[in-house]
Amino acid sequence: MVEKLHVFFLPFLAHGHMIPTLDMAKLFTSRGAKTTIITTPMHAPMFTKAIEKHQRQSGFDMSIRVVKFPAVEAGLPEGIEGADQLNSDDLLPSFFKATTFLREPLEQLLQECKPHCLIADMFFPWATDSAAKFGIPRLLFHGSSTFAISASECVRRYKPYKSVSNDLDTFVIPDFPNNIRLTRGQVSIYERQEIEVETEFAKMMEQVRESDLRSYGVVVNSFYDLEPDYYDYYQKKLGRKAWNIGPFLLCNKEAEDKAERGKKSSIDEHDCRKWLDSKKPNSVVYVCFGSMSNFNASQLHEIAKGLESSGQQFIWVVRKCIDKEDSENWFPDGFEERTKERGLIIKGWAPQMLILEHGAIGAFVTHCGWNSTLEGVCVGVPMVTWPLFADQFYNEKLLTDVLKVGVGVGVGARQWSRQASDVIVRGEALAEAVDRVMVGEEAVQIRGRAKALKEKAVKAAEEGGTSFSDFNALMEELKAYQRARKQE
Ligand code: UDP
Repeated sequence: MVEKLHVFFLPFLAHGHMIPTLDMAKLFTSRGAKTTIITTPMHAPMFTKAIEKHQRQSGFDMSIRVVKFPAVEAGLPEGIEGADQLNSDDLLPSFFKATTFLREPLEQLLQECKPHCLIADMFFPWATDSAAKFGIPRLLFHGSSTFAISASECVRRYKPYKSVSNDLDTFVIPDFPNNIRLTRGQVSIYERQEIEVETEFAKMMEQVRESDLRSYGVVVNSFYDLEPDYYDYYQKKLGRKAWNIGPFLLCNKEAEDKAERGKKSSIDEHDCRKWLDSKKPNSVVYVCFGSMSNFNASQLHEIAKGLESSGQQFIWVVRKCIDKEDSENWFPDGFEERTKERGLIIKGWAPQMLILEHGAIGAFVTHCGWNSTLEGVCVGVPMVTWPLFADQFYNEKLLTDVLKVGVGVGVGARQWSRQASDVIVRGEALAEAVDRVMVGEEAVQIRGRAKALKEKAVKAAEEGGTSFSDFNALMEELKAYQRARKQE
């Protein structure tokens, strides 16, 4: 008899990667696999709570193994264990160096536990060789859409940014469905090889690309109807083996699972719900820029101005201000007093999924991190798109130009650093975009499309849906691999 399939998960140490990996592990567990998540001490609590809950449900076999994060050995200050703790991009090379030291403890665990498959984040390029050493397939998790992964590959291959002379000039992504336009400034420095970036990160991205090609395949947190042209393109044109098995977050059915995602909320969830309960349906704008982005005082000031002049009710999640850490005097004079009835400011971490799925939410101002994007899609709200770094500019295009469920604030070029340092978006531009998704005929159309997309997401994950079926196909393939190995 073939034993239960045992899958190892190795998530990158950032909330935008750990949250979906936990959901993915829950998905595998609920569909009959034994799962083990490998993480470091600081992040263990966010996994153990969910794991204990799952263990109480009969037949669920989910566990965690904790390995030390060698911060000091890699030249980082003691106590650093997550990408969101890095106050400066200068620490990134040491952070990535520390992650390479995880290889040895991972291989010890592979030796000890003998899992049948390793699903490792893209940022662990060495994991492909680790899996090969133990004769198991390594699946790669990008944490992004097939739109973004494929667009990035086309930009890298064809270098279309070379045809323009200015950062704000646009070009069409060649050989890519639907004539998607980008500005040169929206392309990351690592994709623009015309700029010599001999940084550790650039070298690592090369290794990521190489390990991607050599890995057994890619698991995608998306669903077919969200990006059919791009999923087909990724498989047929770019020749990658992929399973589109998301949105993972839909495996969270209970409020408890949706409330505590990643970190403890900075607001009491009941107070938050009570505030939302007092508002009319579709009447509140939720504003949040993910787990990593921080703004300076001038940009925060502009956001406040924009929210106030939009006249809309809002929940605004504010993380730390990068140039005035201990002060809040970036609020326009009297802002908090004037907006106290219609605005709720959450300083720190918000229970994002609980907020988004409340019927009072009418729009989501998002930085287009892939998890936030999917969360917006799964609750069916129109989005105002304000990308900052990484794959977010591609995700914006998917929302605004392809799916037409979002309106951009008009970020023409990315900041090189993930810590936005200038005023990128004026309050007026934010207010205008909010207005377009909240008021009038265009808003009604956008809302209709967003609701339809939500239905498709739910259908995809249900029995018989595309993600459900793709998951079955993946399980069958992994089991066949396991059987073949047994016979060797
Ligand atoms: N998140 C949250 N509360 C916050 C900020 C973020 O729950 O106050 C969650 C959000 O729901 C999402 C993840 O953190 O699941 C952020 O991932 P995303 O890919 O959107 O952006 P990143 O943080 O990686 O830039």
